[in-house]
Amino acid sequence: MGIKEKILTKSLWVFHASVGSCNNCDIEILDCLTPRFDVERLGIQLVGSIRHADVILVTGAMNKKALKRFKKVCGQAPKPCFIVAVGICPCSMHMFKGSYSMQSPLDEIMPVDLYIPGCPPRPEAIIAGLAKLINKVNK
Ligand code: SF4
Repeated sequence: MGIKEKILTKSLWVFHASVGSCNNCDIEILDCLTPRFDVERLGIQLVGSIRHADVILVTGAMNKKALKRFKKVCGQAPKPCFIVAVGICPCSMHMFKGSYSMQSPLDEIMPVDLYIPGCPPRPEAIIAGLAKLINKVNK
C-alpha cells in the first residue's frame, strides 16, 4: 500500500492544548487550517471537545498552573489518544527551562508520540509531522 492510500485510511481529529505558549505556535496551527495549507484535505480536523480527539497538539512550555488542568483534560480523552509536542517549548522547555513557574518538558510528564520542533514550526512542518503520525497510526 502506498503512502497516499495509507493517509486516506484514517482521519485524525485533533484537539489543541496550549499549556503556556507565547501564541506563535498556536497561530501556526491555525494557519494549517486556512485555505492556503488546507490540512482538512488529509482528513485532519480541529475539534472543540477533547472527547472527540484522536490527537492532542500541545504548544508552549508546561507551566505549573497548567499542569493540573492539562492532566485533567488528557484524562477525558478517548483511548488511544496521541500526544504531539508542537514547537521547541514542549519538546525541551526552550528559553523557559529552569524558570520558577515552569514544570518540565512534556515527555517527562507523559509519553509523547511525535515531536515537531521549531520556534515556531512552520505549517509545512506541522503538516509533515501529522502525516507521519497518520502512517504510524495505520501501522
Ligand atoms: S516554541 Fe517558540 S513560538 Fe512556540 S510557544 Fe515556544 S517560544 Fe513561542
